[in-house]
Amino acid sequence: NKQVIFRDFVSGFPKETDMEVRESTTKLRLPEGSSGLLVKNLYLSCDPYMRNRMEKLDVPGYVDSFKPGSPITGYGVARVLESGHPNFKKGDLLWGFTGWEEYSIITAPETCFKIEHTDVPLSYYTGLLGMPGMTAYAGFFEVCSPKKGETVFISAASGAVGQLVGQFAKLFGCYVVGSAGSKEKVDLLKNKFRFDDAFNYKEEPDLDAALKRCLPEGIDIYFENVGGKMLDAVLLNMKLHGRIAVCGMISQYNLEQPEGVHNLMNLVLKRIRMEGFLVFDYYHLYPKFLEMVLPQIKEGKIVYVEDTAKGFESAPAALIGLFSGRNVGKQVVAVSHE
Ligand code: NDP
Repeated sequence: NKQVIFRDFVSGFPKETDMEVRESTTKLRLPEGSSGLLVKNLYLSCDPYMRNRMEKLDVPGYVDSFKPGSPITGYGVARVLESGHPNFKKGDLLWGFTGWEEYSIITAPETCFKIEHTDVPLSYYTGLLGMPGMTAYAGFFEVCSPKKGETVFISAASGAVGQLVGQFAKLFGCYVVGSAGSKEKVDLLKNKFRFDDAFNYKEEPDLDAALKRCLPEGIDIYFENVGGKMLDAVLLNMKLHGRIAVCGMISQYNLEQPEGVHNLMNLVLKRIRMEGFLVFDYYHLYPKFLEMVLPQIKEGKIVYVEDTAKGFESAPAALIGLFSGRNVGKQVVAVSHE
């Protein structure tokens, strides 16, 4: 059983060597009478929140830290080999929490989603049809309270979540602008995801000026993925009664001291609602989400860009790459044939 082992807790930027690919000789078996599943992992998902789990965490209601010396855990797509649970049978496909290893025992199958629609790429269940898709859907429709014709700005806009928020907002009838960290990503935003405008934040010496250029009338909705300097610039450009959905703040995850935010008084002056959210609280909406998005995929109204690494050996670099923007689209690792 090939495994990607988490070595030890991390401070600052994570490195490939914080993980190690190892072969375990222990043969996994589902214990007699277990209500768990033995699965073969097919696709592993690389997600920014996994950086938080590389530290000792003490946040009630959030996920646990990784265990030093044990395989990394995270979202993935897997096939059931043996089942002790009434919801699953041998041969079923699922997405949910699994291990970064060839075979895993899933002890809480009730937290996994059975894959019923297989006429789309299976890897989509790590992205568009999985946790990031639900994040974009819940974040935009439930937290942002959008209205047709409003202006929407999205940071880290070409990533797993951002590319979908932008497309949902466009289909809903908003004016959509995104920022990303390379020319290639900006081209994707404008040409593939049909954003109205986009800019490369790494080449803008003045973020406030870039926002004023792209959104001269201001921002009704900010979908926050990065935090730091971008948040400060956005606060200067929010409209009266604007909304900020705080999905994540990736620019802060590797800093020992988080950056200060200077323009928060705008929340008061402009009566802005700023609200953090976690996707876990919205999974009951998954069937409604699928009902909306599956036809949109089939009709070509929603497209999705993935960045696929192959094999367990490439998994540590794929995960670390999220924090330098190496990924173009959703970062997934294909580890076994379907
Ligand atoms: P992405 O696919 O967007 O990958 C991460 C991207 O972040 C990189 O490609 C890079 O893009 C950008 N980035 C990395 N470092 C920095 C930095 N220092 N400053 C600015 N941008 C940076 O990731 P996801 O779409 O999966 O996640 C996006 C955000 O959503 C994250 O903050 C994540 O934590 C959050 N999230 C929150 C959830 C929730 O429940 N609240 C659930 C899922 C995700 P670029 O080249 O453009 O810089």
